[in-house]
Amino acid sequence: MPVIQKTYLSTNRDLAQSTLTNIVDSLLNLLFPDVCLLCSAQVSRWRDRSICLDCRNKAGALRIFPPVCPSCGLPMSSFQADSGCLCGDCILEPPAFSGARSFGYYIGELAMLARELKFHKRRNLADLLVPFLFDAFQQAWDRDDFDTVTPVPLHPDRERKRGYNQAGLLARSLASRIGIPYRDRLLIRKRSTLPQTGLTDSQRSANVRNAFGCVDPGQIAGRRILLIDDVMTTGATVSSASEALIRSGALRVSVLTLARTVAA
Ligand SMILES: [Zn+2]
Ligand SMILES: [Zn+2]
Repeated sequence: MPVIQKTYLSTNRDLAQSTLTNIVDSLLNLLFPDVCLLCSAQVSRWRDRSICLDCRNKAGALRIFPPVCPSCGLPMSSFQADSGCLCGDCILEPPAFSGARSFGYYIGELAMLARELKFHKRRNLADLLVPFLFDAFQQAWDRDDFDTVTPVPLHPDRERKRGYNQAGLLARSLASRIGIPYRDRLLIRKRSTLPQTGLTDSQRSANVRNAFGCVDPGQIAGRRILLIDDVMTTGATVSSASEALIRSGALRVSVLTLARTVAA
């Protein structure tokens, strides 16, 4: 009987708190109405980070399902996967990283969210997107597979202009969720590069070749590193960053991105 009474009281208290929260939310939303960044539906400014549940669900539905290339994570046909092959790109030019995975396709709501995070100063979207990254991590790896999580860095001039590194926000939050130590200055951009958008595949590769360096090899040597970026297109950037880490003695580098471009 005492247990029943305790549960009853606790339920009453929860109900009162939830009612109070709803009243406060309603008042605040009345004073500061807000709409979804992507579809303009009305949202709760305080709970939804300006993204409606429908858009969140649509972004989640853009997930990449197996089979994928064991090396770069590119979606493959079942026939290719059954024959145990890597994709054509990985056969022609094996990447420096030992495995890359992405949560979903860089299209629709997922691409819109990635662009809002990167270009429109919506840094609070990182917390909303990290569950997607965490999900993709769990599909491919275990916590014990890595020693360190680090992001692909921006050039300091670009980071100063933007005010943050979007890959760093994702990496820091993911590392804390998985329980792996986070290091944000393992890699540096040795030179400024053009934005990869709009370049051909070969131009992308040349643009980032030898663009990265490492300032503290002692933190890298012998480590298994999970490298995080927001978007992967040809893989040139993450491959170049992985090369720099391996040159500094990393035992293994794996790559995880929120989204990736897949040619139709
Ligand atoms: Zn929406
Ligand atoms: Zn591949």
